[in-house]
Amino acid sequence: QKFVYDFTEGNKDLKDLLGGKGANLAEMTNLGLPVPPGFTITTEACKVYLASGSEPPALRDEVSTHLEALEEKMGKKLGQADDPLLVSVRSGAKFSMPGMMDTVLNIGLSDASVAGLAAQSGDERFAWDSYRRLIQMFGKTVLGVDGDLFEEALEEAKRARNASTDVDLDAGDLKSLVEEFKGIVSEQTGRDFPQDPREQMDLAIRAVFDSWNGERAKLYRRQERIPHDLGTAVNVCSMVFGNLGPDSGTGVAFTRDPASGQQGVYGDYLANAQGEDVVAGIRNTVPLAELETIDKKSYDQLMQIMETLENHYRDLCDIEFTIERGKLWMLQTRVGKRTAAAAFRIATQLVDQGLIDETEALRRVNGAQLAQLMFPRFDESRIGDGAAERIGRGIAASPGAAVGAAVFDSATAVARARAGEKVILVRRETNPDDLDGMIAAEGILTSRGGKTSHAAVVARGMGKTCVCGAEELQVDLKQRRLTAPGGLVVAEGDVISIDGSTGSVYRGEVPVVPSPVVEYFEGRTRPDEQADELVRAVHRIMTLADGNRRLRVRANADNAEDAARARRFGAQGIGLCRTEHMFLGERRELVERLVLAETEEECEAALAALLPLQKGDFVELFEAMDGLPVTVRLLDPPLHEFLPDLTELSVRVALAEARGETDEDDQRLLQAVRRLHEQNPMLGLRGVRLGLVIPGLFTMQVRAVAEAAADRAAAGGDPRAEIMIPLVGTVQELECVREEAEKVIAEIQQARGVDLKLLIGTMIELPRAAVTAGQIAECADFFSFGTNDLTQTVWGFSRDDVEASFFTAYLEKGVFGVSPFETIDKDGVGALVRGAVEAGRAARPDLKLGVCGEHGGDPESVHFFHGIGLDYVSCSPFRIPVARLEAGRAAA
Ligand code: PEP
Ligand code: MG
Repeated sequence: QKFVYDFTEGNKDLKDLLGGKGANLAEMTNLGLPVPPGFTITTEACKVYLASGSEPPALRDEVSTHLEALEEKMGKKLGQADDPLLVSVRSGAKFSMPGMMDTVLNIGLSDASVAGLAAQSGDERFAWDSYRRLIQMFGKTVLGVDGDLFEEALEEAKRARNASTDVDLDAGDLKSLVEEFKGIVSEQTGRDFPQDPREQMDLAIRAVFDSWNGERAKLYRRQERIPHDLGTAVNVCSMVFGNLGPDSGTGVAFTRDPASGQQGVYGDYLANAQGEDVVAGIRNTVPLAELETIDKKSYDQLMQIMETLENHYRDLCDIEFTIERGKLWMLQTRVGKRTAAAAFRIATQLVDQGLIDETEALRRVNGAQLAQLMFPRFDESRIGDGAAERIGRGIAASPGAAVGAAVFDSATAVARARAGEKVILVRRETNPDDLDGMIAAEGILTSRGGKTSHAAVVARGMGKTCVCGAEELQVDLKQRRLTAPGGLVVAEGDVISIDGSTGSVYRGEVPVVPSPVVEYFEGRTRPDEQADELVRAVHRIMTLADGNRRLRVRANADNAEDAARARRFGAQGIGLCRTEHMFLGERRELVERLVLAETEEECEAALAALLPLQKGDFVELFEAMDGLPVTVRLLDPPLHEFLPDLTELSVRVALAEARGETDEDDQRLLQAVRRLHEQNPMLGLRGVRLGLVIPGLFTMQVRAVAEAAADRAAAGGDPRAEIMIPLVGTVQELECVREEAEKVIAEIQQARGVDLKLLIGTMIELPRAAVTAGQIAECADFFSFGTNDLTQTVWGFSRDDVEASFFTAYLEKGVFGVSPFETIDKDGVGALVRGAVEAGRAARPDLKLGVCGEHGGDPESVHFFHGIGLDYVSCSPFRIPVARLEAGRAAA
């Protein structure tokens, strides 16, 4: 096994082995671009080290061989006293983990070679500055010395000199600083700073390996769902210097604008500086275009290289470069991150340029990006015009644009929202006690916590805008105010605006504009010549996706308005109409009457009152979805959900009794509520069980469906109703309901003289149903997987409680990277679904198969459902475009 690759040996497809940075350095080397020579130690070596606690035995010799070759090429030896070769030792994993792992520059400098570097460069200050940087970086990352100690010493040296930046320190100052830094190292570690260059290099390599398992890196991987067993590669690269005077410098560049996708000159340049200086923002950079006047030759060469890279990678690339005394060096490239809008534009631009084909364009965008483009946005032209100004930035935790009065506790949020005011709940961090306030608020802002903090997880679950971890904002709960950098204060009641897509926080009200992409899906913007480029790009990509996909996409909708929108968004039917949503509002009372019925007549009367209302709903729905399937699910939730709360009602009755008044109705109601009360209502009398124990309930619903369909057919429509039975655990339950339903349907068909072609199917949302799917299929025309309840029952997680209680801890500990209620748990829940698909189809080859749980609109889950051969996914109307896109990508 080979553990070390020269840059000339690798290529861009070896990211598993060489990491992203190493693979791309090799690719650039092979393209003949000016990359400083070097070599890469593989992730395999790292894995051996992490597993066994020591480097693979062969590594040392291999490194020696490659180092000698490098020394040969460069004509000098590592740390050679009169003319030292210096190297950088950089981490580089398969997936970019910006700033999470270690890097050490200037390896090879020592008390002996610093003079050689000074002589060779003709710049004594530069040599001592480089040595100072080495000890600082090495001390901190390799030897574990507290970095503040070095920073403080540096600050002190500047103060003593009255210098504002370290550029003002001269060679003598830096030389003293080096002595001081060495003292800090000895004091803190009990050993001297290593003078042997090879020892420096070996220790730095080991430190990079170790940094794979640093706390920061582990947390980042969990959040980004990067596997923990990949390990990092280590790149050893000969140093080039951007800090050798005014004809040197360093910069970053993009081959296109990562915000818009436009081609042009985008980037920043900083003369006389090294890479970290740009990132740290020590001095102000200039726009890359100015390099043309600073150093035309390097600029022209850079433009040429950027074109080469873009044509070669067939994508937007970002790069890091350094100019050392007029010579350009490429230090890094990779396919660059971009905004959601740019992703769509770039994908279509590249097709037009002939660089990629249409299938590839589909792969270059994703549903998460499309979802982002569908949120309303702040009107950026209105920021800073006096009405609103940006006061800080946090983590974009849950997208959207929210405006409201700042409030600092949950109770105030609830009270003000009740009074009709829009509020933003501002907390340091949230906990389950804040839940009411979060529900009442338009958005949530916290000053602490990351993407998996309580606030972030819960807000995403509720689809509420959230910015978290805005650390520069000081939240003072006692004074009920927020202080921004610069001392600007937002008091309780002041209006703020938060952007959950960018993390920006504004004081004042920023006007919100609708998303142009939604305007397009709604049919209010035509994707023609006049439309903006983004709309045209989205239209093209959606057309490609629709042409590609095998999965059909339906909507979860239970009223005509949602159904109509879903249809505009491209829904091919309704996969789930939750009929309980039709029993809310004023109709709740009718359900109450049903529950309270003591005689058969009372029961029948209550149902008879519900029938026309149900039928009316269905007529509207079938009309909105004319010609497309509409799956109507019979009543699912426990009946007590339609009744008053037990505690509240008990108190009301008790108070009335204390006053000597008795309300007969309330007392009857209380008895009924007590009778229906369950410890575990989600596992109680609900779904098909209601149908079996409440006489006439399901029959009434089936009748309403059949009559509505007959009415529509009579009116010349094309209704395609499907009746779905929830929470079935065994085929016998389904048989009972089916028999009843078929009787009613036959009766109506005969009376109306139509063949309604009604399908009767079931949800598969209990483990037992999945396991006995073969039997159940004998009695079902279709299955629709209810992955919400299936996840709840397979994991034993209460879907209504866990996200707010212990999921934050689970996510932080990495038990899972994402809630199984959000993305299908392939190994557990997914395995049951897959088994049920196979058994169902085996028993009944024409069985229609779909999914209607929340997962139906989740990108990763859509790919899974495509893979196991479902016929359709069903999701909420706003997620339909995302599901269409992902279904197209899954088939690409
Ligand atoms: C499900 O359980 O996945 C489902 C779609 O039904 P509901 O969410 O209404 O329980
Ligand atoms: Mg369910």
